[in-house]
Amino acid sequence: VTGNPVDYDLELEKIVDEIGRRRAGVVCIQLPEGLKRYTELIRERIQRDTDAVPVFSAEPCYGACDPWRPLESFDCDLVIHIGHSRMLEDGPVPVVYLPARSRISSLGVLRENLDQLKGRRIGLVASVQHVHELPLLKGILEDEGCEVHIGGPGSRTEHPGQVLGCNYQAAKDIVELVDLFLYVGGGDFHPLGVTLVTGKSVLVLDPYRGELRDLDELSRKILHRRFAAIERAKACRSFGLLVSVKPGQNRYREAIRWHAKLGKLGLKATILAYDRLDPFLLSSYDADAFVNFGCPRIPTDDSQAFRKPVLTPPELEIALGERSWEAYIPDEIA
Ligand code: SF4
Repeated sequence: VTGNPVDYDLELEKIVDEIGRRRAGVVCIQLPEGLKRYTELIRERIQRDTDAVPVFSAEPCYGACDPWRPLESFDCDLVIHIGHSRMLEDGPVPVVYLPARSRISSLGVLRENLDQLKGRRIGLVASVQHVHELPLLKGILEDEGCEVHIGGPGSRTEHPGQVLGCNYQAAKDIVELVDLFLYVGGGDFHPLGVTLVTGKSVLVLDPYRGELRDLDELSRKILHRRFAAIERAKACRSFGLLVSVKPGQNRYREAIRWHAKLGKLGLKATILAYDRLDPFLLSSYDADAFVNFGCPRIPTDDSQAFRKPVLTPPELEIALGERSWEAYIPDEIA
């Protein structure tokens, strides 16, 4: 970006073009937390090159499951959703999704660690910020004698190899063909999901920390915590079923099925709808445990913040004896 080096490709030209092409008067812009620091840069560019009024969402935004639907609050002509790929059809206002591709390349880290990967059968997966690197990484690995596969896209993703914290279709597609997965991106949640859903080892090629790491210890630690939550829930008699109202997280039908099922088992169940889940507010309810039908990351990411067990639907199956612990799977939204 001219004059303002940023770590992500914010596609400012495209933002200006889309505003002009659609003659947007008010444009609503949604950024995830890590990119909110570029608000001024985007605002200045829009005001320099268009007549549109930019309005930025100050709410948290964790995924394309939660596109801003601002029509009731603003006379908005266009929504620009940055940092994720399209998951849902547009509502009354068109949404342009810009993935914010990372400019921090993983090639150097790969080259430094090729010895560990030579000759292996590898599945490549990535966050949306790094999927554009996968074809190049594939070529390099193949030159080292690796057999490389890339699956997907899935029902909630747009790009081959892309995984989300709620959808691992790109990994599941190729699980039989590979010995291990190489995840490209930062953070541990996505690769952790890949290892849990496939049962295969995952190495994280992390260009931000400049390292290739395995997840074995973290995976054991998280599973230990999940096991403890499930064990506590086994004695629980009443459950709060947490249903998200965000359009791409809404699984109320599944919650309603569980509501009926728990009733038949003689257990109490109360459906609780939320937009943003605040662990503190859950203390108002006397449920012994909660089951989350919203974003699958919440029970794992925020587990320390909840006083009572918060399970995923597959974990509830284990607590009720319908699924064995050996068949543990992460929660996914299809
Ligand atoms: S449901 Fe959760 S993991 Fe899936 S896209 Fe939304 S925020 Fe991300």
